[in-house]
Amino acid sequence: MNAFLSEFAVDVARTCVWLVLLTALFVPLERWFGMRHEQPNPQLRHNLAYYFISSLVPILLLTIPMALLATAAHHLAPAALTTTVAELPMAARVLLAFVVAETGFYWGHRLSHEIPWLWRFHALHHTAERMHFLTNTRNHPVDMVITRLFGLVPLYMLGLATPSLEGSATPALLLVLGNVWGFFIHANLRWRLGPLEWLVTTPAFHHWHHSRHDHINRNYASTLPFLDRLFGSHYLPRHWPAEVGTDTPCAPTLGGQLLDPMLPARRTAPAAD
Ligand SMILES: [Zn+2]
Ligand SMILES: [Zn+2]
Repeated sequence: MNAFLSEFAVDVARTCVWLVLLTALFVPLERWFGMRHEQPNPQLRHNLAYYFISSLVPILLLTIPMALLATAAHHLAPAALTTTVAELPMAARVLLAFVVAETGFYWGHRLSHEIPWLWRFHALHHTAERMHFLTNTRNHPVDMVITRLFGLVPLYMLGLATPSLEGSATPALLLVLGNVWGFFIHANLRWRLGPLEWLVTTPAFHHWHHSRHDHINRNYASTLPFLDRLFGSHYLPRHWPAEVGTDTPCAPTLGGQLLDPMLPARRTAPAAD
């Protein structure tokens, strides 16, 4: 128990250090290159709370279940398949892990829009009324667990990841880059990346996913936009969305936002575009 508590204290310290680094990087960039707002962001306090909830709740609640799930999922896959994957060169394993995790995330995210019961939890992410780097972690814990499972279970099945990263084909550097990219595509940065927009997701790509009325059911990918092209959900015009947010109601308090989705259904899936 003591070892768990001291490890958790390290996780809290690491989360705080990351917040300082992300703030030092994105606040000046958003000030120089972002859309100007007259008023401070009224959702900032909640977004900060969600940053800590998103970072720490999975560590508290999921460490042991994920280890059990990883073992169970690995036994579900045919041995011939896992042996073939294990014999691939390291570079191929890394690339495969990246594409498999991204594809899993794409479908977890898409189903969170298409299945009303899942949308109840995912809607909170879309209640952000301004794009801001911390919008990335404005997530209900249930939503986060679901999309994370969609990304991780296929990796566990193929033997491409373990909960502890040991023996994992996804190096820590790739995880850190992927994590920072999530904050980047949510940031209030009016940058277009030219031909790179074919290769990776960008703020414009993901801001359209947050558009209030027309294109919320587009651009589900986290880093690889070719998945949206492949599955018919890509949308990236030259201009930017006029307004972000959702018409799905959102409780004014943090407690209400966390508890409401668990109550009997009142919410509906977002209108199809
Ligand atoms: Zn979404
Ligand atoms: Zn988002």
